[in-house]
Amino acid sequence: MTNKIKILHLEDTPEDAELIARELKKAKIDARIVVVNDRAKFARALDNFIYDIILSDHSLGSFDSHEALQMVKEAGITVPFILITSAMSDEFAVAVMKEGAHDYIIKDRLQRLPSAVISSINKHRLEEEQQSLHERLFFHIENTPLGFIEWDNRGFAKTWSKRAEEIFGWSEEEFIENQKTRFNHVYEEDRAWVSKISDQMSSGELERSRVQNRNITKDGRVIWCEWFNSVLKDKDGKVKMFMSLVQDITEKKQLELQKDNLLATVSHELKTPLTIIKTYGQIAAGMLETKCDADTLSMIKKMDNQVNKLSNLIETLLDFTKIQEGKLIYNEVFFDFNELVKEVVDDMQKISSTHEIRNNSDKTATIFGDKNKLSQVIYNVISNAIKYSPQANNILVSSKLHKDGIELSVQDFGIGILAQDGKNVFEQFYRISGNQSTFPGMGIGLFVCSEIIRIHGGRIWFTSIIGKGSTFYIWLPFDHRN
Ligand code: ADP
Repeated sequence: MTNKIKILHLEDTPEDAELIARELKKAKIDARIVVVNDRAKFARALDNFIYDIILSDHSLGSFDSHEALQMVKEAGITVPFILITSAMSDEFAVAVMKEGAHDYIIKDRLQRLPSAVISSINKHRLEEEQQSLHERLFFHIENTPLGFIEWDNRGFAKTWSKRAEEIFGWSEEEFIENQKTRFNHVYEEDRAWVSKISDQMSSGELERSRVQNRNITKDGRVIWCEWFNSVLKDKDGKVKMFMSLVQDITEKKQLELQKDNLLATVSHELKTPLTIIKTYGQIAAGMLETKCDADTLSMIKKMDNQVNKLSNLIETLLDFTKIQEGKLIYNEVFFDFNELVKEVVDDMQKISSTHEIRNNSDKTATIFGDKNKLSQVIYNVISNAIKYSPQANNILVSSKLHKDGIELSVQDFGIGILAQDGKNVFEQFYRISGNQSTFPGMGIGLFVCSEIIRIHGGRIWFTSIIGKGSTFYIWLPFDHRN
């Protein structure tokens, strides 16, 4: 300790006070000791309290250490209080410690006093620091939109912050006392999966979780909340408790929902006129063919190719919104896989003037699945291959028959993908930074592809070398129901 220790010493025998001062000096404790010898002076010292520790004799005529300790507590003073007394029975020592004394020293064993003073002060300072750290942390948490909740290891709340009260409506007392079952505050439909996550946290299987679910407030409203949960374990690795930070995200969710609805409606509304344009284009092409008007016919075909491109884009958008709502419907039939690949490659070759798409398909197989959706997957992967290889002029497509399924690969000689972007490219809205401004896109194509392939029991992955190109692979079982 670097600063001078300020000691308030309650002692009515000057010789004892002298003895104690000497003992501290002998131990090289740099202290300023103020000795008081009666209740009035002690009370004044408590009024203007500036001390690090109180040392107290037990018996001081009409005043004693019990009373002194009481006065200290009433004054809200928390510094260590050490009792120094001539003789003490074990019961008396226990009683004094219970009352709040930090330590006791027998007068004829004063050599223990210096270390008792130092360790009590150190311990007290540490406690104060922790306390203030805790208060500061709590203050900051309460000034965020996050509610703070502590749960015991069975999932019953122990602490419920003011912000949690604002979010859910229950006061700490109300919530803690009314927990007949866990998850009273969770919306019924979400209860099963929320409780599953909570069980995984109780068992220590999961250390952290971030979930969004619906909750119920005291007045019965359904709100969306985002929860950041973490587990606190003891030194043996056993779960002691959980902590949650929770935020009301109802408004954000509603906006998201409106945005999704808008996207779904716009995509849907775009699809109908586009189908009509396509039909008229085909009728016009037929009429021009009979009239042998080759120039106009070629223009109509170019228009038709662009319409196909647009309708694929809209199809992906529609599928994306349906995946979000969990409403993507699959119409599955048996079909020839290589035939489908050929159809897509031929269609795409018509649109692409920059790249030759070479199709080296092996033996074919009959696949059970949604032909339209799978053609969309192949279309997306090939159109990425074209888009991300602007300096190259060909794309290699090939299929390979395996004993349990068929594998399609689409190889380009373009910009490539860094290993660190790995699985992320299959996440929704993920676009590799640096590419965004150069290459147009929405970052949903591969997400939709991976979802469709997953439903078909297959796999999609890629290998890539930066600057040399990428190969995307799709593996599909013959019949995913088997
Ligand atoms: P986008 O609309 O951005 O093309 P995708 O979901 O189809 O969205 O692809 C996600 C990201 O993966 C793309 O933004 C791109 O950075 C990267 N990517 C996809 N295919 C390729 C490829 N063949 N070569 C290089 N990067 C690719």
